[in-house]
Amino acid sequence: MSTAESTPRRIVPAAVVGGGVSGLIAARELAIAGFSVTLLEATDALGGCVAGHEVAGLVLDAGAESFATRSSAVADLLEDLGLGEDIVYPAGGGAWLYSAEAHGPARHGRDGGPGTQDGRAQPLPQTGILGIPGDPLADDVRALIGQTAALRAAADLAMPVAKSLTDGSMSLGALVRSRMGSAVLDALVTPVVSGVHSADPDTLDVDVVAPGLRAAVVEHGSLARAVGALRSAAPAGSAVAGLRGGDLRLTEALVADLEDRGVELRRGVRATALRRHADGYTVSLSSSAADGTVGAGNGGPDEALEVQRLVVATDGPSAVDLLGHLEPALEEHRPEAGAGVSLVTLVVDRPELDDAPRGTGVLVARDAADVAAKALTHATAKWEWLAQEAGPGTHVLRLSYGRLSEAKARIADADDATLYATALADAATLLGLELGEADVLGWDVVRYSGALPFATTGHRRRVEAVRGILEAFPQLDAVGAWLSGTGLAAVVADTRARTRISAS
Ligand SMILES: Cc1cc2nc3c(=O)[nH]c(=O)nc-3n(C[C@H](O)[C@H](O)[C@H](O)COP(=O)(O)OP(=O)(O)OC[C@H]3O[C@@H](n4cnc5c(N)ncnc54)[C@H](O)[C@@H]3O)c2cc1C
Repeated sequence: MSTAESTPRRIVPAAVVGGGVSGLIAARELAIAGFSVTLLEATDALGGCVAGHEVAGLVLDAGAESFATRSSAVADLLEDLGLGEDIVYPAGGGAWLYSAEAHGPARHGRDGGPGTQDGRAQPLPQTGILGIPGDPLADDVRALIGQTAALRAAADLAMPVAKSLTDGSMSLGALVRSRMGSAVLDALVTPVVSGVHSADPDTLDVDVVAPGLRAAVVEHGSLARAVGALRSAAPAGSAVAGLRGGDLRLTEALVADLEDRGVELRRGVRATALRRHADGYTVSLSSSAADGTVGAGNGGPDEALEVQRLVVATDGPSAVDLLGHLEPALEEHRPEAGAGVSLVTLVVDRPELDDAPRGTGVLVARDAADVAAKALTHATAKWEWLAQEAGPGTHVLRLSYGRLSEAKARIADADDATLYATALADAATLLGLELGEADVLGWDVVRYSGALPFATTGHRRRVEAVRGILEAFPQLDAVGAWLSGTGLAAVVADTRARTRISAS
């Protein structure tokens, strides 16, 4: 039996727990500040949600595949890593929406290509943010929600805006419903938000999922004008950008940079406990399996690190498990485990898809009962570099499954074969063409459990409370999506700011 006394100990000046993007960035900032750094990752892979996989000979993003351009945070980091020239923007086709009912005429792809016969798939308004239209009376908005609902939405342009709109916390759903009505929320915003955040807009803190939006509504006097202003402030007018070769190159570049700086990168070790002492912290470590789990073992840690400067960069529940050893009061701020997501990637040989019949992909309305997926990304239509790599006729389709309704959440947990069969059927419905196993060149299922934390209303206050508690602990920081909000733009900006300030 291992005891605290017999556990091997090492002294390291600085350690980062968690090797997702936030942990890799924290390790880089500490190394730049002159620390000798050890990074500890529980699984056998670095990058967390920003990872790659190979399907039918193509190297593809297995997790994040883009980043928001509302700030220059990610682009600045990519510049620093020598990847600035490889920032790319999605093709202009935009995404489509698949609804429970027909809202407009049957649509066909360009040149009369494949299309649904019942008008349930329609292009999403192009000038929106999170589905909120910049022009409520535009043809593409009226086609989706109808004339009456569009007129109600346009009332936003004339309704006064109280200066107090930015007081307190507010959900995205409450803001949209009050300014533009329920139809915009249900038909346009909910499918987009479910696709991105796996959560209901009524639970999401608007300031986290759309930073600056409330202030822009006050400044511009309407939600539609605020959306237009934020959209036009983004480079190239695109709300998102990507990297030639995929977001996975961000992880590769960060890892290479850390290796160059002499950072010790340890995979397959899970931090299991923390203790404070006069000179810093003791981090207990257990070796873990490829998926990051620790077996029963001998009941004790395999090793302990004596650390002067510590950054905890894990998911929220793991962070509270660790930091709760230092301050039990953190327990009341334990975040809900994020939604589980399963992604099915299909590489298919279907030349009809060269015409991008559904633009860059399709978001699925919650009440569309004949499709289990919450979204389909037509990756070869979205990213030109990928279309060139795949070649004409070969297409990459990525379908995501997860929380949208109870029934749809269950499908995310099905076995790989069931998910594959479901994805084939869903892709056929959403793209409006017949698709069978004979068309498939390769497929893969990737699962993320608890990887998309909710930024529920009041998120900022909770984060301030957590960080207030941690201020009592010198040389200690906590970073990651559970604090910054989901998405690379939030994670990169927050991690850099916190670890840079406190490293100096
Ligand atoms: C399927 C999917 C698609 C996404 N798509 C996009 C997108 O297109 N654009 C975008 O901007 N964002 C996207 N996101 C969100 C974005 O990827 C994440 O917000 C971001 O990568 C989170 O980084 P992180 O470092 O905070 O957490 P994570 O990536 O979750 O990393 C945390 C790491 O800590 C490790 N860990 C946990 N506990 C311990 C422990 N006790 N000891 C050691 N290690 C531990 C974990 O194994 C993990 O590697 C997506 C997320 C998912 C899941």
